[in-house]
Amino acid sequence: MYDAIIVGAGISGLLSALALGKHGKNVLVLERSGYVGGNCNSYCVDGFWVDTGPHAITHLHKGPLRMLMDEYFDYIPAFVDYGTYYVRTPEGIRPIPSNLREFVTFDVLPRKDRLMLSQALTKALTLSTFGIDTSKTSVYSCLPRHLSKKTYDFVDTIAYFLSGKSMKETSVYRVLYGSSFVRDSAMYETEDQPIADLLAEQITNITGIRRLITNKATYAQAYPRGGLKAILNSVLHSLPDNVEIRTDTRVDRILTDDGRVCGVSTDDESYDTEIVIHSGFAKDLPVLLDDLPAEYLHDLGRIDQARSMCIWLGLSQQLKEFDYTGSEVWFQEKAYWAMPISNYSSTIAPKGKQLVGFMFVVKDSVKREKERAWETIHQVFPDIEKYIEMTHYQVTTPEKAAVSINGYIPDVRTPLKNLYLVGTDAAAESMGITRAAYSVIDLIKCMKEDGYLRSGRL
Ligand SMILES: Cc1cc2nc3c(=O)[nH]c(=O)nc-3n(C[C@H](O)[C@H](O)[C@H](O)COP(=O)(O)OP(=O)(O)OC[C@H]3O[C@@H](n4cnc5c(N)ncnc54)[C@H](O)[C@@H]3O)c2cc1C
Repeated sequence: MYDAIIVGAGISGLLSALALGKHGKNVLVLERSGYVGGNCNSYCVDGFWVDTGPHAITHLHKGPLRMLMDEYFDYIPAFVDYGTYYVRTPEGIRPIPSNLREFVTFDVLPRKDRLMLSQALTKALTLSTFGIDTSKTSVYSCLPRHLSKKTYDFVDTIAYFLSGKSMKETSVYRVLYGSSFVRDSAMYETEDQPIADLLAEQITNITGIRRLITNKATYAQAYPRGGLKAILNSVLHSLPDNVEIRTDTRVDRILTDDGRVCGVSTDDESYDTEIVIHSGFAKDLPVLLDDLPAEYLHDLGRIDQARSMCIWLGLSQQLKEFDYTGSEVWFQEKAYWAMPISNYSSTIAPKGKQLVGFMFVVKDSVKREKERAWETIHQVFPDIEKYIEMTHYQVTTPEKAAVSINGYIPDVRTPLKNLYLVGTDAAAESMGITRAAYSVIDLIKCMKEDGYLRSGRL
């Protein structure tokens, strides 16, 4: 009998296993695929180490991943400062403004639009500072009318890359907290810093204008040296012996008895446990068990998702177009987010070569999106074909629940006793890996409240 069984060995499942293992629990992790890490991974294609999509790791200064690393990791990955977010124009790259002063001089957009957008942004920040809930207000509904098409395209692209959804489906909250306009660290109460102080600090940082004027886009964002697998390897090497992982093992059912979870079954075995932590898609829960209340099932049906396609290009030489660390956005016609990840670390591409990932949002059929993606790449970089040595495609769901205005994000606690959720569909804060880490912090908190974990550690 295990103390806890974790369904799925993505980063949220593994971070949960690590935390519970370090709290002395006997943990079994069951993963349906042949490898661990889920969307937090890197693998070699023709000598180039591609990640599962281009990644920026956010909230690294005081955020949830930092807290988990400090508390549970035996090996901490080395992080490299992320660099700068650029917008690509036909004339070259320009840094994306990270504060109002930069925004006013951002002449990629017409001057009149910039002024109107700055006013809208200031208003949204002020509302947010005074505690007005902006999570159900769409970005589009807050935009001034009669902006140019270019400006709408720009805002739409930023919305897509922050939430996977258009500006009509993305909330103001998401743009403020997913971008660097609002302080990029987590607010967790500690004995040294009670929540009231944290809130006061947060408000000073926004309303004190200082934040808006001096904000740095790179604040607390980084890329793991050596690639995304560096994070995964640090977790794996930190796991204690009381954590067991089995791959190629799909959980088909979560077993219940008298209104509480008691085990899981795969196609050839059943496992008893006191607690199940599900890190797969929460949307799959109705297939895995029968005892969920109708209202919860209805809510799970409202989970919104977005798909993305990443085209990795291994280039025969380092091109001057990609001579930067950070990433670039192209916002006209078919928008992309691109990142030359080999610029962070010499081991990612063979000597003298370069690896760039282009991420596109998938709204249509993959075949059609591929054609349009290539049209954009060829239009922006007309000579690129002669340098391409390796092409690799990934089509994925980057987050298990998109933070859209009508979408549902379940809590870590479920209506069924002893069944918890973790992962990108069990927290709304930040993005991707940081979001998954937020859910794990919540899990630890809930399990303490429910009497399964001692206090002391985190
Ligand atoms: C293109 C792209 C770009 C991204 N950019 C960023 C970024 O810039 N910054 C960032 O922080 N994040 C980014 N992300 C997102 C980030 O990688 C993921 O959100 C994160 O890795 C998800 O972790 P997870 O544990 O929630 O889910 P997953 O990685 O999906 O893990 C879930 C695991 O559960 C397993 N599983 C599911 N059901 C079962 C079952 N029934 N039985 C057994 N196993 C099961 C799955 O096989 C999988 O391994 C990006 C992702 C992509 C694809």
